[in-house]
Amino acid sequence: MADNNDKKPKGGFKGISWFYIILFIGLGYILLKDDNTSLSGTATYTEFKDYVDKGYVSELVIYSNMNSVDMYIKPDSAKYIFGDRALQQQPLTKPMLTVGVGSLDNLQEYLDNAEAEGKFNGQVEYRKRSHTITDILINIFPFVLIIALWIFMSKRLGGGAAGGGGVFSVGKSKARIYEKGQADRVTFKDVAGQAEAKTEVEEIVEFLKNPKKYTDLGGKIPKGALLVGPPGTGKTLLAKAVAGEADVPFFSLSGSDFVEMFVGVGASRVRDLFRQAKEKAPCIIFIDEIDAVGRARGKNPAMGGNDERENTLNQLLTEMDGFGTNSGVIILAATNRVDILDKALLRAGRFDRQIHLDLPDLNERKEVFGVHLKNIKLSKDVDIDLLARQTPGFSGADIANVCNEAALIAARHNKKKVEKDDFLSAVDRIVGGLEKKTKVLTADEKRTIALHEAGHATLSWFLEYANPLIKVTIVPRGRALGAAWYLPEERQITTKEQMLDEMCATLGGRAAEELFTGHISTGAMNDLERVTKQAYGMIAYAGMSDKLANLCYYSSTDEYAFQKPYSDKTAQLIDEEVKALIAQQYERGKKLLLEHEEGHHQLAQLLIEREVIMAEDVERIFGKRPWASRSEEILEDSKSSENKPVTENKDRVEP
Ligand code: ADP
Ligand code: ZN
Repeated sequence: MADNNDKKPKGGFKGISWFYIILFIGLGYILLKDDNTSLSGTATYTEFKDYVDKGYVSELVIYSNMNSVDMYIKPDSAKYIFGDRALQQQPLTKPMLTVGVGSLDNLQEYLDNAEAEGKFNGQVEYRKRSHTITDILINIFPFVLIIALWIFMSKRLGGGAAGGGGVFSVGKSKARIYEKGQADRVTFKDVAGQAEAKTEVEEIVEFLKNPKKYTDLGGKIPKGALLVGPPGTGKTLLAKAVAGEADVPFFSLSGSDFVEMFVGVGASRVRDLFRQAKEKAPCIIFIDEIDAVGRARGKNPAMGGNDERENTLNQLLTEMDGFGTNSGVIILAATNRVDILDKALLRAGRFDRQIHLDLPDLNERKEVFGVHLKNIKLSKDVDIDLLARQTPGFSGADIANVCNEAALIAARHNKKKVEKDDFLSAVDRIVGGLEKKTKVLTADEKRTIALHEAGHATLSWFLEYANPLIKVTIVPRGRALGAAWYLPEERQITTKEQMLDEMCATLGGRAAEELFTGHISTGAMNDLERVTKQAYGMIAYAGMSDKLANLCYYSSTDEYAFQKPYSDKTAQLIDEEVKALIAQQYERGKKLLLEHEEGHHQLAQLLIEREVIMAEDVERIFGKRPWASRSEEILEDSKSSENKPVTENKDRVEP
């Protein structure tokens, strides 16, 4: 995307480079000049008298206005004074020493005596010396250095070249501007899925294109809308598409751009942004991650130091109130945490509309693939349906990434077209990280990992609500040593039974290790972390334990909860309940594993041999999953295409 950054570096920059050039020439001059003078140095007045007495001196030039004498040494005497240097530099051109003199009268008197005594018979010349360029340069050099340093620093602080003229532009907005009328502008066509969000913003496009239609009826054009959704769901893309559809300029910046170390900078950037925007109205301002400035104010006096952010937010509110309702500037902001935003931002006349973007579901993923596969040369075996099914939980950005990664993988193998396998590898890679072919495991470690992963696989096979298994591997990938992949159900609420089964399956790795190796290992740390978090969530937030039934200690409004909203006694109770819950699921897991011990061992053995096993292998060992339904589907898929997809439960080993 060509972004038309209308801020060119200002003339000041050129001036500065000239300045540096002159500086370097000057410096070079000084250095070279010194090198050229054959032999020179300084001498004290005492040395001076000594040299004159010994008859080394051929000529004197006295600078009366500087109280300084240049003493020229006879070439054959130079070796007594300069030693080796005199011998190396043959032939000698006028070796010379500079002497500072206290009183010219004393000097004259001394010279008269020396002449009378026959020690000195050279020429004495009086001159006036003006300051040479060198002197001037030497004198101003420190100041120049300081100024240069200051300019350099202020440029850095001001955001470098993008900010233009350094410290003076620190208060300028850092927005990037996409001008109207660009050929490659983003339109709704480029945004796949998100149908509701598109309908909502279509109205904004209408406002921008045809404000009169609304104002004539006495309606007010909205000032802002908040795009709410997880990262990568296309919030920026949608905002750009609105600008593209309406063909108006688009200012894009991130909430964190307002935040600087200088007091008052944020507020002045906001002012500058709105000034620029009003000049270009109708237009769209897009503020990404608005929570960086828009967090609720003043909840937490103890932390202090947030005044700057609050000033910025206040300025933003003022500006939003300030411009006339129908000035044609519409602000779109993106966040994935509406709950922490300051309520003032959400009031009528500000961001009074909220547009939700969700992770794409199966059909939407198909559409997103459709958009991103357009420019890729596909082989015939690529099936969008299958790709969409392989990628539950992926955001639009993840899918864009899969497509790109697949093309790169195909190119790496010198293929003419991108094949299905390339996409599947790309999915694996994005879910799991790179395969670590170099990570060498000992036979013992491999066995432990196989038992561990087989533990997950066995339990999830026999637990009714555990996510259906897709594949189990013990190929190290990224930081994971092994992984069991599931097809997570796309559900909006989760029942207690589902959570318990999930927990039990997650604990299956550690349980299998304990039962069948006799040791427990750090390989289960990641599992335990998840289980512990989940248990606390169930008990303290979801009110799912008997002793603390229907109590939720989570507050969606207090961001800095310094005080726990419960007594110490309750805290103790929560801890106990968590422990009991986990212990209970652990025991349940162990029992189930012992019931299916033989199958588990076969599974582990198969893993050691093959490193990757699929759901169908598990089915061959255990028979049909008792709670088939959805796993049927998966088996179907995995038969038609040997390599399978998606998400979760990696066993990481912390360093
Ligand atoms: P967000 O701002 O929500 O974090 P972006 O808009 O920056 O996400 O999305 C990043 C990239 O992901 C986009 O440039 C686009 O390539 C891709 N993308 C995300 N959502 C979609 C979508 N719904 N349709 C097509 N591409 C999408
Ligand atoms: Zn595990």
